[in-house]
Amino acid sequence: MNDRRIARVVIVGGGTAGWLAGAALAKLLAGVVEVHLIESDEIGIVGVGEATIPQIRTYNGALGIDEDEFIRATQGTFKLGIEFINWRKPGHNYFHTFGDNGVPLGRTPFHHYWLRARRDPGFADLWAYSANAQAALKRKFTRAAFEIGSRTGVVAHAFHFDAALYAKYLRGWSEARGVKRTEGKIVGVEQNAETGFVESVRLERGEVIGGDLFIDCSGFRGLLIEGALKTGYQDWSHWLPVNRAWAVPTANAGPARPYTQSIAHQAGWQWRIPLQHRTGNGHVFCSDHISEDEARAVLLANLEGEVLAEPRLIKFVTGRRKKFWNKNVVALGLASGFLEPLESTSIHLIQSGVSRLLALFPHTGIHQAEVDEYNRQCGLEFERIRDFIILHYHATERADSPFWTHCRTMSIPEELTRKMALFAVNGVIYREQEDLFTEASWLQVMLGQGVDPVGYHPMADQLSEADLHRFLSDLRTVIDRAVDAMPTHEAYIAANCAARQD
Ligand SMILES: Cc1cc2nc3c(=O)[nH]c(=O)nc-3n(C[C@H](O)[C@H](O)[C@H](O)COP(=O)(O)OP(=O)(O)OC[C@H]3O[C@@H](n4cnc5c(N)ncnc54)[C@H](O)[C@@H]3O)c2cc1C
Repeated sequence: MNDRRIARVVIVGGGTAGWLAGAALAKLLAGVVEVHLIESDEIGIVGVGEATIPQIRTYNGALGIDEDEFIRATQGTFKLGIEFINWRKPGHNYFHTFGDNGVPLGRTPFHHYWLRARRDPGFADLWAYSANAQAALKRKFTRAAFEIGSRTGVVAHAFHFDAALYAKYLRGWSEARGVKRTEGKIVGVEQNAETGFVESVRLERGEVIGGDLFIDCSGFRGLLIEGALKTGYQDWSHWLPVNRAWAVPTANAGPARPYTQSIAHQAGWQWRIPLQHRTGNGHVFCSDHISEDEARAVLLANLEGEVLAEPRLIKFVTGRRKKFWNKNVVALGLASGFLEPLESTSIHLIQSGVSRLLALFPHTGIHQAEVDEYNRQCGLEFERIRDFIILHYHATERADSPFWTHCRTMSIPEELTRKMALFAVNGVIYREQEDLFTEASWLQVMLGQGVDPVGYHPMADQLSEADLHRFLSDLRTVIDRAVDAMPTHEAYIAANCAARQD
């Protein structure tokens, strides 16, 4: 398709997406490509995106980033999962924690044993068998391993961090490894008259920067992927109708929780993300069902600490670019699409996009087979995450506002319908290709939202009732003991990764 060797990569944008891409290319393709990043201080970054999922640790590991140093530099805290409040109905809450619930016995997933035992009120709580959930409830944390049955257990963790400090940290890290940065506003894009490939970008002050491959990390505006290439956007607002967020920081009202909170309101939901130096808050809402002013008031009425700045409004349309990679432009981050922040998946999608680009890196020239495979894999991953997020809105008993009635009664993607129906019979869960979320995630959110299986797999009947109860009781004892021995989240941070006070 285009046999031009890729020697120079130009990254447009210096938010989380731009610097995550820069860091990986500089480290993993050192000596193969030259990396140039352009960002505009005048335009700035979106400045939200502060909760993550455990896959970020693999990315950091591949770069060789020291976890404690990274947490210190970003005012970070540890995240064990998300507490969903009022989602199924007002007054109800549940956790979607990382890691597993229980341990499987032989070939039978743990939850089938639990589904069998739960009729007995002593065994009714699925989250009693999750070290992550118990540690979250008691605000404990450790990275130390513990014995769980015949296996070694750990609490699976991710991070909360300050988005501006994260971009700064990644910038320092990338520049130290050779990424060249130019500050300036891009005002023009030159394309090859025949192929339409992007050849260079022009800055306001006249400088022209050329490259062989362009990575569009310019945020919602999609300067190259949409502005120049007119790639098109698949709008998913009929399934994910939220389209605005107010964001505001507050002072911490107490020790940082080791988990994110997501609180459903009448026409959307609110996040609370605890950091070492402040708490990040936001109200994500649908402007068809609540005005911007009302949504702002809902946020301000539901904060725990003193407000530290004026609330900021961010507008978006949920969906994805029709192509993530078009000609010689690969879009990452908000330029590639946005699924709304409910399950903290956007930073992960940047990282998986970078990993795929590296796996398919077109060093000998851009070939359609590689482009198509990249688009196929990214598309599947976006769709699987989309369905998982829709589940939270759709499987609800809430009927207290037109927004929730719309979500509860809307039509949903066929695969999600199939997945929910299958689970509702005998609790069977299949993980689809490119599905980011594990069986444990689907289990917790389906049960939490009220999708309740009638039966369970018959292999769970292989244990006698007495053995089943002993198995569950022992597991619970092991988890309780392990969690009791953990330090508090606050003490763990103070001992290992407290941010510098400067
Ligand atoms: C309300 C909300 C909450 C979110 N919460 C989470 C979360 O909890 N977890 C999570 O994983 N993700 C979250 N996200 C997503 C996350 O914020 C983004 O994925 C992440 O910040 C990456 O943004 P970006 O780098 O793509 O864009 P931006 O941060 O917008 O960066 C764009 C860059 O492009 C540059 N640029 C743009 N135009 C030009 C130009 N003409 N010339 C030069 N430079 C230009 C800008 O200067 C900037 O450097 C959230 C998003 C929103 C909207």
